[in-house]
Amino acid sequence: MANLTPHFTYEELTHTDHRTLDNTPTEHERCIVDGKETTVNAVANLPRLADFLEQLKVVLGNKPIMVNSAFRSEAVNNSVGSSNKSDHRRGCAADIRVPGMTPDQVTRAIIASNLPYQQVIREFDRWTHVAITTNEGDVPKKSKLIIDGQGTRAFA
Ligand SMILES: [Zn+2]
Repeated sequence: MANLTPHFTYEELTHTDHRTLDNTPTEHERCIVDGKETTVNAVANLPRLADFLEQLKVVLGNKPIMVNSAFRSEAVNNSVGSSNKSDHRRGCAADIRVPGMTPDQVTRAIIASNLPYQQVIREFDRWTHVAITTNEGDVPKKSKLIIDGQGTRAFA
């Protein structure tokens, strides 16, 4: 297990249930950023994502954070119906669950924190999607959404 930070491993942030598909991040992932096709160094972003999750863990009173899905290769991302716009493609997003907390509670804790999140989404009341900025040093947008059976809307 290669540790990126004390509590998060490379394996955790590149795990996929789609075992037949390669999910190895590269330094030149084909992504769409702000509407433009570009390449992103997902390998470099994973330690930044792990560092963010460490900070979130402290905010949550050191509870364990279970990562369902973080980086997604183009093949894995296509298989879940997502696009190259996704922060998962860049290694900048994680879908997380925290035992003992609902996704709503986790989402609210992130919003109430001073963490530099780019986006937080309560998805289907089953997990929380949280993303960091595409580039180190960008001003975080702090976008807050709910996505569920009723569609996509602002978090409230
Ligand atoms: Zn997600």
